[in-house]
Parts: sequence; structure tokens; C-alpha cells
Amino acid sequence: MSEAAPRVSRQICPRCGRETGVDFAQTRCPSCGGLLEVRHAPPELRGAELSALFAARSANRKGLDASGVWRYRELVLPGADADVVSHPEGNTPLLESRAISKWTGLARLSMKHEGHNPTGSFKDRGMTVGITQARRIGAAAVACASTGNTSASLAAYAALAGIPALVFVPSGQVAAGKLAQTLAYGARTLIVRGDFDACLALAVEAGRKLNVYLLNSVNPFRLEGQKTIVFEALEQLSWEAPDWIVLPAGNLGNTSAFGKALKEAGELGLISRVPRLAAVQAAGANPFARSFRDGFSSVHPVKAETLATAIRIGDPASHERGVEAIRSTGGVVTDVPDREILEAKAAVDAAGIGCEPASAASIAGARRLLREGVIRPEDTVVAVLTGHILKDPGLILAYHQEMDPPPPGANRPIEIEPSLLEVERVLGS
Ligand SMILES: [Zn+2]
Repeated sequence: MSEAAPRVSRQICPRCGRETGVDFAQTRCPSCGGLLEVRHAPPELRGAELSALFAARSANRKGLDASGVWRYRELVLPGADADVVSHPEGNTPLLESRAISKWTGLARLSMKHEGHNPTGSFKDRGMTVGITQARRIGAAAVACASTGNTSASLAAYAALAGIPALVFVPSGQVAAGKLAQTLAYGARTLIVRGDFDACLALAVEAGRKLNVYLLNSVNPFRLEGQKTIVFEALEQLSWEAPDWIVLPAGNLGNTSAFGKALKEAGELGLISRVPRLAAVQAAGANPFARSFRDGFSSVHPVKAETLATAIRIGDPASHERGVEAIRSTGGVVTDVPDREILEAKAAVDAAGIGCEPASAASIAGARRLLREGVIRPEDTVVAVLTGHILKDPGLILAYHQEMDPPPPGANRPIEIEPSLLEVERVLGS
């Protein structure tokens, strides 16, 4: 942290430098319309002393320390303790699998499985902070636009806090598990006849004109929570940074949050070197990968089309800060076709781990980057799995039961007469 660091948290516009207080409720800069960023006072401890504090809280497992987000509260939202709305969340495993290492060709691959969060996706890490902030500023209601995971998380945390929630989801484009959760947790759900980008525009307008607090991925407080995916993974690796962190990239909220987390971890002496970020998009929704290929000299909005609905985004809201995250970590951006995403998903599922389709983009991307010689076979790689296998049951059943010809990983169910003879026949085949 620089010498000019303030004593309290504040919001700053990186584009024009305008500062606003921590309670400012809009997500965009009042001067230039840029996205705001939250900056905190630097913690009193640094380096080994700070990591020892985190370790002690891990062992304590009570109150705020039980959360894999609020355990790092100095770096997330200091001073919010009395208002925290926590499930708790985080504490997700870092998994290794011989089968998936074999499939990717990466012997030193581990997977940070964010599907183990309370509503089944990484979004809970940002939402616990976003809803806590909503409570701090006395928001009457909260809203988001979502491809599904955000709406499920918003609905759950708003219910925990007792704050009314409004969600905008694109018609026909939300996986069954996510829509079911949103309805069940009790959010007022608006199915918009349009794509995600249309939902986002509508939510932003509602946030500005109807006095509801907007908790989209552009909300800077959510990004503060999402930083803890990186902090927790690094802590699980005893603060020995991996060579690469590979993640799916849609609206670029996580890419931005990861870049910020790594910068702060470096400045605070928690890590001695910075891992490179590899952001992976679906080939049919690849505006960020296109931009990367021309050196980020321009933006390339696309009409997004992919089976990985969680990253079906044609015009990422956090483009600018995503660029900063890739640049500051010496990172790369790539894209993979849906066929490879499905193949990767089948490999992750069949390994007994399981994930939603967008999550598998990181595994498919890691394999592709190895083949292209960007990642070396001996590199240590952490791939982030963003969501739970049950988020998208429709796609799984279509893959295993309906696709014709059956894809390589298809596990067709077999219908039989109720006789042991038939069971024997199946076992022998
Ligand atoms: Zn500005």
C-alpha cells in the first residue's frame, strides 16, 4: 500500500481519480461513469504476521472466523463486523485428481471448487459482502441482472438479511437449477424477453431511478468478496504462489477481483511472486479473448452464444479492470469451443468431482494452453471451478441421454425388465 493510503475505506474511480465515500450507493463514478473500486486502509499486520492471524482464525472456526470470506476481513470490508450477513461461505476445497491431470496433461493441477459454497457457486463470496454493504447503507431493496448464479445467491442472502430482492434473468437462457433456487429463496423474479446485456441495462436503470441497491458483478463490494477465492487458495498452498491461476471469464468480475487480490497479496508480503492469470472464454462468447489478441487496443462486443450459460456474455461490464488484471499478472486470455467445454466437463464429472459447464472452461482452457506451449507441463496450476454440477441438470441429461451420436463421455442409462438375468447380462457386457 502506498504512503497516501487513507485510514478508512473509500471508493475511487481509477479512470478519472474521483473519490467517493464508502457509503456511496451507485456503482459508477458520478463524474465520468467509470466503474468504482473499493480501497481499504492497510491492515496493521503484514507478511508472516498477517498470515498467522488468518491461520489462527481458521483454527477458531467461530463467528466471522467460520467464513472463508470474513476470515480475511481486513482485506474485504474492515469495520463491517456488526452488519455482516454470512451463511457462512467459502472454505471450499482445493482438489487434485489423477484422472483430470491425465486428461489435461498437467501433473501439478489442482482445482479450487467454488461449487462447494452455500448456494453452489462462487457468487456467495461476493454476495455476503454485497448484502452486508446493503445493510450498512440501509438499502430498502436489492437487485441484480444475472445468467442465474448471481440471482440464486442474491435471493438467498437477501432472504438471510430480510431485504426484498428483485432479479432480472434472460428468458430461456437460465439453467434449471439456478432458476429453481431463485424462486425457492423468494426473490421477485422478472424473466426478461432479451439477453443478459438487456437485463443488465434494465437493472442499472432500476438501480438509478427506483432506489434499489444494485448488486451486479460491477458492484465493487462484491469484487472485494470474490478476492477471497485467491486468498483462500494461496493460504491452502501455504502462500506458495502457483505458476498459473486459470479461471472462466464472462463478465470479468472474477478476473478483475483476482487481479486486485494478487496485487494486494504481493503488496502485503503474503506472497513473494505473482502467479499469472489465464482467463478462458467460450469461443461463442469471446469478446475479451478477441481484445487480448489485438493487444487490448479495442473492444469487440459479440452476440454471445454458448452452452456455458454462466459465461454467455457478449459485452463484459468489467472489461477495463479485466485488462488491468491480465496486464499486471503477465496473464493470457484464450477461448475454447463448446465441444471442448463439454468434453472437459464430462472428464471432471466422471472423475467424481463434477461442475457446471462454465467451470469446465477453465479445465479445457488449461489443456489448450498446455498444447499451445503457453503453460509448461511442470507448471503448478490452480483451475477455478465456479459452480456445482447440479446447477445445470438439463444439459447433463441431454449430454448423456439424448445427443445423437452419443458424445465420447456419454453414460447412457439402460432400461431392463425386472430380472436378475438382465442385470447379469448388463454386468457382462
Ligand atoms: Zn471517474
